[in-house]
Amino acid sequence: MANAWLSVGANIGDPPAQLAEAVRRIAAHADISVAKQSLVLTTKAWGKTDQPDFANATLEINTSLQPLDLLDVLLGIELAMGRVRDERWGPRLIDIDIIAYDREVLQHPRLTLPHPHAHERDFVLTPLREIDKTVVDWIIENARISN
Ligand code: AMP
Repeated sequence: MANAWLSVGANIGDPPAQLAEAVRRIAAHADISVAKQSLVLTTKAWGKTDQPDFANATLEINTSLQPLDLLDVLLGIELAMGRVRDERWGPRLIDIDIIAYDREVLQHPRLTLPHPHAHERDFVLTPLREIDKTVVDWIIENARISN
């Protein structure tokens, strides 16, 4: 069984409802259990400020899935939640990232662990610190060594 930390985010539609739906779908998977969940953090979009606020949260999960299999499950949930009725792909209603998987360092064409931008994103680090300070320290230390 592995521990992994996920970031879920949304800024169109009804972001808090979509975060809750993503968590529900993640928790419903037979090989995943949700161990901890942060509060939802709402942040103003910066740069392009004419877009809605972002809602972000982080989760700690326990899973028997290997990292790439976990990625496939999460991409499947993103696709299922982003699908629009006319069968064309609509705007992304939910983004789910793997921030870390145990303390594994991985450079794979489809998956980089820890997430390559996690250390510079407060909307990831702030809610993650709420559920596990030690993994935040590890992510920052890993970025310092690998950059
Ligand atoms: P994005 O839509 O910007 O979140 O990018 C999604 C793509 O990034 C996925 O198809 C993955 O193959 C790739 N990817 C690389 N590392 C990660 C990660 N740690 N978590 C989620 N997706 C990742």
